[in-house]
Amino acid sequence: MMQEPIFDFKSMPKIELHAHLTGSITRECLHEIWKKKKGAGETDLEDPLVVMPPGNHNYDLTTFFPLFSSYIYHLINDAESLDYSTRSVIKDFARDGVVYVELRTTPRAMPKAGLDKAGYVSAVLRAIDAAQQEEPTLHARLILSIDRRNSREEAHEVVALAKRFRDQGVVAIDLCGDPTKGDVSLFTPAIEEAKAAGLKVTIHFAEAEASASDAELSTIMSWTPDRLGHVIHVPEAVKQQIAARTGIGLELCLSCNVHAKMIVGSFEAHHFGEWWRVQGPIVVPCTDDVGVFGSPLSNEWALIQQHFKIGRDEILGLARKGIEAIFGGDDEKVRLRGIMW
Ligand SMILES: [Zn+2]
Repeated sequence: MMQEPIFDFKSMPKIELHAHLTGSITRECLHEIWKKKKGAGETDLEDPLVVMPPGNHNYDLTTFFPLFSSYIYHLINDAESLDYSTRSVIKDFARDGVVYVELRTTPRAMPKAGLDKAGYVSAVLRAIDAAQQEEPTLHARLILSIDRRNSREEAHEVVALAKRFRDQGVVAIDLCGDPTKGDVSLFTPAIEEAKAAGLKVTIHFAEAEASASDAELSTIMSWTPDRLGHVIHVPEAVKQQIAARTGIGLELCLSCNVHAKMIVGSFEAHHFGEWWRVQGPIVVPCTDDVGVFGSPLSNEWALIQQHFKIGRDEILGLARKGIEAIFGGDDEKVRLRGIMW
């Protein structure tokens, strides 16, 4: 009798749909950038390996967002570090066996680099393009994020940038950022504008109790988003609404939610267990911020197999189902159907 092959999740072709560009930069890559800047006398920042000690993945909502606003954004603040870190993120995903990735980023001006928000998006797209040339089995697309702290005007600016760069790989709009901040209803016109332009929409949904009020969830559901991220603090009635939306993508981020203590309990308690068998929605395991939480996508799948006792065929079926949730278009779906196990 043949023995069932041991599953190698690294070589299993995988789809990543919820990965923040800056949060996906490894500490080693940040360290390389820092070392170069330090040597050139260009930074007073502390070594990223001191600020984010390797092995420490326990960032919660109170420490996670300040890490970016007070540290990482100050380190990645010029064209060279933006280019280097973006390429490095793409390469890391490719080496982990990811064949299709949608990165997301909030357009930010980099005055030091002479880049306005459009210049930033353009620079990220160029770096993605260059990295893809070196990693031909990985195809990447970009999602532009509206930050919850944005004004209505800033949100429209993000949508305008997405429209402007859509023929260069921007596929969708996201809403993200500190869940304790902002009133999402402010963004209804911007989301409507994006949808009218044919852009896809994914939303960080019920990520924390602070962003799970009935008013917020019903506003977001009224936008009929194509995908939802996290989906943690969801009341039963809203779960039923989600379950009834055939084809809606659910980007579930296990390690992030466990390490950041966004859920009660450990992996077995993660709501992945509740959703993965539900017909209708398409569950896609994602990393969110692999640079912070340290668990590559191959490891997320290993955790899933380990904690939810899912068999080989079901794992492969689930991975393939993710193809239907991508924003990359029909040709890309055909390619993925051809290469995924
Ligand atoms: Zn996220």
